Amino acid sequence: MPVDLKESENSEMQRDMLVPCEEAKEALENGEVPVGCLMVYNNEVLAKGRNEVNQTKNATRHAEMVAIDQVLEWCHHCGRTPTEVFEHTVLYVTVEPCIMCAAALRLMKIPLVVYGCQNERFGGCGSVLDIASADLPNTGTPFKCIPGYRAEEAVEMLKTFYKQENPNAPKSKVRKKEGHKC
Ligand SMILES: [Zn+2]
Repeated sequence: MPVDLKESENSEMQRDMLVPCEEAKEALENGEVPVGCLMVYNNEVLAKGRNEVNQTKNATRHAEMVAIDQVLEWCHHCGRTPTEVFEHTVLYVTVEPCIMCAAALRLMKIPLVVYGCQNERFGGCGSVLDIASADLPNTGTPFKCIPGYRAEEAVEMLKTFYKQENPNAPKSKVRKKEGHKC
């Protein structure tokens, strides 16, 4: 837990990590890698998302990308400039953003990311690459990361998911959608 934060900020971040955890749980129940997130702009929740990779059969539909799209939709609906909104938006996410998402967050100029556990396999905020703070020309702006909020819950959900992946483990009940026939 970061020690340089005021007590009030600390509990606020614990609270704001609740929704991402619920989103991650929903992902888990739907056979997705359990990652969930929330985007807050000036104390207003603009978006929440979870992994939709298997459901959409689209490897880029990570929770963060889903939430970015929702914020863009909100901006469009409310006649707001996305750049101005993203520059004042905090992302709460259960797992350290991957390299792809970290790059997207830089490009959207999100200044702060509060996350749960590390992402040892794909992490873009220091675990694999440090996209968050690297000096990358023409790739948005670096962002600040605060790790460690509700990390144990995030890890437990990931463990449960990867246990299900084991072919000897009982299959999860994943509802499959009928796609369009070509
Ligand atoms: Zn990602």
